[in-house]
Amino acid sequence: MANRETIVVIGAGVIGLSTALYIQQHLTPTQSILLIARDFPSDTSVNYASPWAGAHYRPVPGSTPQALREAKQAQRTYEFLKRTASAEPGAGVEFVGGVEYLEAPPAEYLDTQSVRNVYAHLDGFRKLGGEELPAGVRWGVEYGTYVVNSPVYCAHLLRKFVLRGGETKRYTLVNLEEGFSMARGVRCVVNCSGTGFGDPKSFIIRGQTCLVRNHVSKTITRQNTDGSWSFCIPRPLDGGTIIGGTKEPNNWDPNPSLETRKRLLDNASKWFPFAPESKGQFDVIHDIVGRRPAREGGLRIEADKIADDRYVVHGYGAGGRGFELSRGVAEDIVSLMLEKGLLQARASL
Ligand SMILES: Cc1cc2nc3c(=O)[nH]c(=O)nc-3n(C[C@H](O)[C@H](O)[C@H](O)COP(=O)(O)OP(=O)(O)OC[C@H]3O[C@@H](n4cnc5c(N)ncnc54)[C@H](O)[C@@H]3O)c2cc1C
Repeated sequence: MANRETIVVIGAGVIGLSTALYIQQHLTPTQSILLIARDFPSDTSVNYASPWAGAHYRPVPGSTPQALREAKQAQRTYEFLKRTASAEPGAGVEFVGGVEYLEAPPAEYLDTQSVRNVYAHLDGFRKLGGEELPAGVRWGVEYGTYVVNSPVYCAHLLRKFVLRGGETKRYTLVNLEEGFSMARGVRCVVNCSGTGFGDPKSFIIRGQTCLVRNHVSKTITRQNTDGSWSFCIPRPLDGGTIIGGTKEPNNWDPNPSLETRKRLLDNASKWFPFAPESKGQFDVIHDIVGRRPAREGGLRIEADKIADDRYVVHGYGAGGRGFELSRGVAEDIVSLMLEKGLLQARASL
């Protein structure tokens, strides 16, 4: 058929997969979709962030344009993942209790309105009273949140995409222009490549965590006085528990540090409610090192018209929040594509 068109999505991380699935729901009969990536959910590369994520949802108060935009994306994702957790038990998403303890809360945590803006939507949200806080902690909250078994969830998204007729291709693109040559009739390339292609605002944030077999029933995050963070995240479907973690901008070391592992586990045994029988010992499955694909000013969601009838739509730079923002980002990308006439709205959706 002469007027057939293919939409190319680059990237099979949580952002590319969520976006490709949502685009798929809006395709017209003459459009098809091709997902191209260097890495897919069964792969393990330090440069492929998604399978390494914790992943839990913890709101981030703030008043910058990035914080306000992300708050909306995070709230939509929360509702979406709540539905996913109950409707698709094999997706690797589960609702559990979430607790936060901060020893040195930054100003935005002390501003009631700014806290309400990002936390009020959470099921059972409650600020903890002074008598409920552990020694040394000045601010604490509890709420219902989700945890994600990130490799399982990514595999689930890919499976759904393929079952719904999506095509995939393993390929490493040298530049975005190449995306237009990967199929016939490509008018739009959606760039969900994590760090973009040579964007000077992109940078990586190294994260080291440790996956253990020991079980906890809720996700707890503790900010330490020195500004570092300790957290435990149970992974659904018997996936163990993630003990974290570090956030090291521009640190390219791909190897886990044993010293860091020891510090993370020592803190976890002090602060998190693992079974007393474990006596502070952890059954380590493996260390994790991944690179969060960050960007100054936050995610780039933008449509670039590169020729009369050709667009690159960008969706990269999620930093440490790719899972938390994933559905909101997919919706924002699709809205942009609808606005540019690259997709058509369907009354039934
Ligand atoms: C230790 C750690 C803990 C984390 N914890 C959390 C958490 O609790 N909650 C949360 O929300 N997030 C968390 N994150 C962050 C989260 O993992 C990222 O934000 C998210 O994975 C980014 O997804 P992405 O799809 O943008 O990028 P990626 O997952 O990196 O995927 C990028 C995709 O683009 C492809 N690609 C790149 N370049 C090319 C090319 N040239 N040609 C073809 N394909 C290409 C890659 O192969 C890959 O498929 C954590 C990350 C780490 C490392």
